[in-house]
Amino acid sequence: FHFFWIPRQPHRRPSPRRPPHRSIQPQVVPEPVRVRRLPQEILIQAVPYLIAKLRKHEALQKRCGPGTASYKKALRWLESGEGVNTADSNKDECRYLVYISFRGLGNRMLSMASAFLYAVLTERVLLVDNDKAIIGDLFCEPFPGTTWLLPRVGWLSTSPLRRLRHFDQDSKESLGNMLQSGATIASADGNVTWSAPAGRTPPFVYVHLGGGYGPHDKLFFCGAHQRLLRTVPWLLFKSDVYTIPGMFLIPTFQDELDAMFPEKDAVFHHLGRYLFHPSNAVWRDVTSYHRDNLAGVRRVVGVQIRVFQDKVQPPQQVLDQVLSCVRDEKLLQLLPMPSSTSSSNSTSTSILVTSLSPWYSERIRAEFAGSSTEVHRPSHEGEQRWHDAAHDEQALTDIYLLSTCDVLLTSGYSTFGYVAQGLAGLHSWVLPREPFWAEEGSTEGRGPCRRELSVEPCSHSPSFYDCKAGGRDLDLDNVKYIGRCVDVNWGIKLV
Ligand code: GDP
Repeated sequence: FHFFWIPRQPHRRPSPRRPPHRSIQPQVVPEPVRVRRLPQEILIQAVPYLIAKLRKHEALQKRCGPGTASYKKALRWLESGEGVNTADSNKDECRYLVYISFRGLGNRMLSMASAFLYAVLTERVLLVDNDKAIIGDLFCEPFPGTTWLLPRVGWLSTSPLRRLRHFDQDSKESLGNMLQSGATIASADGNVTWSAPAGRTPPFVYVHLGGGYGPHDKLFFCGAHQRLLRTVPWLLFKSDVYTIPGMFLIPTFQDELDAMFPEKDAVFHHLGRYLFHPSNAVWRDVTSYHRDNLAGVRRVVGVQIRVFQDKVQPPQQVLDQVLSCVRDEKLLQLLPMPSSTSSSNSTSTSILVTSLSPWYSERIRAEFAGSSTEVHRPSHEGEQRWHDAAHDEQALTDIYLLSTCDVLLTSGYSTFGYVAQGLAGLHSWVLPREPFWAEEGSTEGRGPCRRELSVEPCSHSPSFYDCKAGGRDLDLDNVKYIGRCVDVNWGIKLV
């Protein structure tokens, strides 16, 4: 049997939605920044097609969400474990995507935004697995009048929703394994259909898009496999990566994506600002820290330092890189503001340092002692922790504080930094890091900071299959909107 949670009422949306920071004032910037941090009203006018899609999606979430008759019917399909009559699943409009998260908060936010865009494109209801209640503690409900949190499933239930955390790349229900095990038939014209029994569709398919996913899992990014998945009522979608660049390579989605995102390098910026509303507790922390330390400061430089090795002594090379970048690229330099927009005579500058280790902010503070630049550190958690709501709330607070800065200096490879950059709508300066295989203490790769090409996150585990050419890689030089990342040489991103 099932017992349902009573859907949570959406949290009261904090107001104002963004901290009232003076950086909303237009400033003269060294290079043209195509995406500005604008109040949401202005974004709404900028992309009416996207807004219309989002409104339509909100209606779908409400019509088919937990507690509705359609949801109960779809749950019964799942419980039965039997194939669904394809004609029925075609007829019924309510189909679901259950997002299963793993890894750190940056990974989770990037993959959740990817799952959301996929749900919008394929008209599926997005439900998130609220394991340990962490997502519910971090974010407000994004869709009015319904919940995006997957209701708990009763202990005795045979539904696959009971064992979401057990699915992985080896699961026999994964798309990759089903394609290899004869569960599908590929015809000569390139179409793929479910094999026996004829006319029936599995009630669910597990889609594994985690880092290191295999070639058959990557067939997800082919048009024929998208058509195959279209009739499946439930997709269980586990991912820790930003898969949106791959969606731009699927021909069936391209016209829609073009219309939704005239500016290709602002996809995460729009989706992230729409989907992620920090919970009231996180928002209180963000706004109070901002009010007490950053409000009224003319220029705030956000520095995000992410060191992946677990060392007792944080690497000095990273500090050197940060200081050189701030000085060489004149990140603290105050730029003249057009007199018509100048509302503050303040000449103060601040550096906001986020890092697990307190050592960096202390050293940077010592470096700027006696100058007019203040150095702030909202947290120093020491080490990354798992399944710890308070730790994740602090991480989200840091990300949002970074996103209010005027300039960002972020760490290469770090999804934490990508999210801050995307929400801010800024082209960060990026600290390159040594390759993972480099010797301990090596300075290889730790060169000067570089300017990001686009506001978009880098996709670390990209799929750029040429589906027509039997799975060979596409020649990306001929693909519109996709470029290489400045920090990860095998990564791709929207530009
Ligand atoms: P990535 O590993 O850098 O790609 O970023 P993730 O966000 O996926 O994982 C890193 C995790 O470490 C975060 O989610 C936090 O839990 C923690 N963490 C790393 N850097 C910081 C930081 O600057 N501030 C806080 N509060 N937590 C951090």
